[in-house]
This record gives sequence, structure tokens and C-alpha cells, in this order.
Amino acid sequence: MELRGKKVLVVGLGVSGRAAALLCLAQGAVVRATDLNPIPPVADELAAAGVRLSLGGHQEPDFSWAELIVLSPGVDHRLPEVEQARAAGTEVIGELELGWRFTKCPTVMITGTNGKSTVTTLVGDILNQAGFKTLVGGNLGRPVCDMALESGEADWLVAEVSSFQTDTMDKLRPRVGVVLNITPDHQDRYPDFAAYAHSKMRLLANQAGDDVAVLCADEPEVWSRRDAAPAQVWGYGADGPKRPGGWLEGGELVLDAGGKSLRLPLPSGHLAIGFNRLNCLAACLAALACGAEAPAMRAALESFQALGHRLALVGEKGGVSFYDDSKGTNVGAVAAALGALEQPVVLLLGGRDKDGRFADLGPLLAERAARVICFGEAGPKIQAQIKDFALSHTAPDLAAAVHEAAQTAAPGQAVLLSPGCASFDAYSGYAQRGEHFHELVREVMHG
Ligand code: ADP
Repeated sequence: MELRGKKVLVVGLGVSGRAAALLCLAQGAVVRATDLNPIPPVADELAAAGVRLSLGGHQEPDFSWAELIVLSPGVDHRLPEVEQARAAGTEVIGELELGWRFTKCPTVMITGTNGKSTVTTLVGDILNQAGFKTLVGGNLGRPVCDMALESGEADWLVAEVSSFQTDTMDKLRPRVGVVLNITPDHQDRYPDFAAYAHSKMRLLANQAGDDVAVLCADEPEVWSRRDAAPAQVWGYGADGPKRPGGWLEGGELVLDAGGKSLRLPLPSGHLAIGFNRLNCLAACLAALACGAEAPAMRAALESFQALGHRLALVGEKGGVSFYDDSKGTNVGAVAAALGALEQPVVLLLGGRDKDGRFADLGPLLAERAARVICFGEAGPKIQAQIKDFALSHTAPDLAAAVHEAAQTAAPGQAVLLSPGCASFDAYSGYAQRGEHFHELVREVMHG
């Protein structure tokens, strides 16, 4: 792609928009950028680098001026100004697509509703252990546009990809593409579930020949769409054998694909949780497709550092355990957490709703939840959906919910923050919400 002298408009100035603007500048483009926020933190840096900024709103003349529009993942691609420019023939792509076009090494891309960060990190760990020079980022950490600038010296680039990023891809073709699971999420941004699922599967649409698609065979919404993958499909799931692919057998992970057959001991600790065993299979298969061998996989699985706020044990008091799963921001993640814990659960659900279908949790709540406390902005709406399945009530905020949970939980039960919602009603993100939960639990433990 030639950007020299090209007029590029970047929409959305978070970390991804910043990286896109800097990449375009480095390629000799004339760059403008716009954001609804009147003072995005990166504004001064970009202005100094030569980007012309329109802040505090979008100006139509910027869109009609542009020959290429690059969208940040946070920006809705159905924005009227964008639709209009697209209709007028202007090329519109996402930051990921742009970054991929300038990436000089092969890529592994991982998508799914849940588990992306965990698997992306694990694939990066394995490839590094295998001695490959590996860049790791995407939706998690460094944007692909940023990593692209260093990709000439790398062997592999591993990226976490959200559905917002596949919505705005075009020619993008990962050498290895992974789809972990597809369960309802972001239903506030898609017309229906089928559109969301289609968006996830698009990651594989341009693959061909020797490219590899790693797909979870235990996830019906993924596996039933496997014919949408034009490349070779490697499947994985709890039961085997799955060839080419991977499965669990007698305390081991078994991989049989790409002419290689190997067995690895199941990891202990955080990766031993049910759904994480499948995440391990996905990561090992992706790494196998990149040429990694068993010793690198074993070393990476053994030394894996659990990412915070994903079903993490925070503390125990009086026989009650407290778990932080603040990253559980959709119904599928809540279901996975409920399925993974053995104790009866006092569940804290709430935050900013994304049109989640909480009623889908009904049978699982009836079986697993001693009580559900629905907190924050979405609290009353969630309680209305689940009240027939479990003892439930609302609390104004997380502090009140934790206080109440600590008072009512019986020894042998677990208090689980797996909110099934975004955090933006009260926090800057899931991490801040999780940190607040830790503080509240510390107060309970020392109170
Ligand atoms: P993502 O980057 O897709 O949000 P994370 O690894 O950050 O994925 O995990 C998000 C949430 O999903 C956490 O609550 C985590 O415990 C849960 N989770 C992780 N892997 C899976 C999986 N394979 N299936 C269901 N839930 C999962």
C-alpha cells in the first residue's frame, strides 16, 4: 500500500488511533485526526508530529477531504459521516487492517468472545520460548500499527482481535487464525447474533493454501461455521481424538496436526481451570502451526503468569472465598466462571449493560447460585431477567453489593464478581473495577 502524499483521516484518538496516525505519518501521508473527546491525551503529541486535529466532534469536511479513512476499534463503523464517505467511494479500513498491510512478518490472530487475551499471551510466550522473535499485542497492549514498524526484524506477530476490528478488515489474512468461542456479546452494536458471529468468522475469510484456522470443536457456534474457513482447519476440544487438532486425554494435552504428534502434561494452577485447558489447546495448536516444539510449549505453560481479574482468588474469610472475575463482561464469561467454581456462589452481576441476555443464565443460576446481587446502572434490569431462577436483589453499587455478600455468604460458599457487563457506569475500565473489588474484600477480611 502506498501512502506517500495520501490524505488520511484517523477517527478516534486512543492508543490505536495514535499508532495509526504515526504509522501514516511515517509512510509520508498527510494526516488529519478527529475525536469526540475535546482533549484526548495524545492530542499534543500528534499535533507536534504534524497531524491536523478536529476535536470535540466530527467535521464533515474532514471526511470528504480524506482519500483513506482509518477507524479506531472503539469507533462505530456505522457512524453517519463514515457511511457517507464510504458511499462516495472513499476507502474505509480499521487500524488492524492498516497495521497488517505494513507488517513484514507472518501473523497469528486470535478472536472469540472470551479467552482472547489469555490465548494471545500464551501463544506469545510459547513462540518466545521457542526462540522466535515475537511481537505480541493487538486489542491487548500494543496496537498492530505500532508493532508493524518493528516487524521487519520479527519472526512472528501475534495479535488479539476484537469483532470491532474484524468489522473493518478487508484484505487481512493471518497465517494462523484462531476462533475460540462465539457467545452473545456487544448486542448493542450488532443487529443480531448472526451478524456478530459472522463478524468473528471474517478473520478467516481471506486465508488460503497452507494457512491454518484453529477452531474450537466444543463451541457449536464456531464449529458449525467451520466451512466458512477456506484454509486447513485444526479442531480442538475436550474429547478426542480430533485430527488434525488437539484434545484432552488422561491428564495430558494431545496434539496431532501438521504432521506432528505430541503430548504435554496438563498445566496446574490457573491454567487448570476447565475453560483454560481448552485455551491451552488453542494456544499450543497455533504455536505448533508456527513451528514451535513441545519443550517450548511445556516451558510456557509451566511459567504462565495468570492475567489479573480473570477468575482470580482474592482472599478467604470464615470459609468464604472471594473471586475477582471483573473481566467477565458478558454472559458467556459469567457462565464459564459459574461452571468452573465448585462451591455454591453468591454472584455479583451488574455495571453498564450491553443488552446481555441474562435470562440465558437461568438454569445455571438455579443450579449454582445461592444468591445473586445485581448492582449498578444495570442492576434492576438484570434482576428482572433472573429473579425467577435464583434468590436475588439489587444493590446501588459494588461497595454495597460486596458488603451484602459478605454478610450473607455461608461458609463453603464463594463470592464471585463476574459482572456480565461493562464497567463504564462507575469505572474507567474492568481493571479499575477489579481493583476496587480487591480493596472492598480487604476491608471485609480485616474488618
Ligand atoms: P478476552 O480478551 O476475550 O476478553 P480474557 O482472557 O481476558 O478474554 O478473559 C475474559 C473473560 O472470559 C474472563 O472472565 C475469563 O475468565 C473468561 N474466559 C477465558 N477463557 C474463556 C473461554 N475459553 N471460555 C469462556 N470464558 C473464558
